Amino acid sequence: MSQPTDTIFSKIIRREIPADIVYEDDLCLAFKDVHPQAPVHLLVIPKKPIPKLADAVAEDHKLMGHLLLTAKRVAEQAGLTNGYRLVINNGEDGGQTVYHLHLHILGGRQLQWPPG
Ligand code: 5GP
Repeated sequence: MSQPTDTIFSKIIRREIPADIVYEDDLCLAFKDVHPQAPVHLLVIPKKPIPKLADAVAEDHKLMGHLLLTAKRVAEQAGLTNGYRLVINNGEDGGQTVYHLHLHILGGRQLQWPPG
């Protein structure tokens, strides 16, 4: 099923709706999740509106690496020295609700495994 490319996250990138932005560069944006699931819960998104990980293509490989390194940087900036978890929910079975690719950074408490 095709997904709309203009989501709430595109509106955050365009500053049409507010968000608590903690990092931005030419390629991506990081901001606090509005419904945090841990003491620290941040989202890292590409400015390019890729709906989900499964829609990323070979030419996105540098962008994908940049998102991971940005997540590392933002986690350090947030003080997560004792560890953290990165999550990408992909599609319906993955529990994705916003169809603009995003990495969750979760930390600040002991996380359990496996997730539900
Ligand atoms: P998903 O379920 O797609 O992996 O994650 C989407 C995330 O976006 C959820 O954790 C949800 O709380 C967050 N979210 C949804 N709408 C907004 C919003 O308007 N602002 C912010 N900051 N986060 C949002």
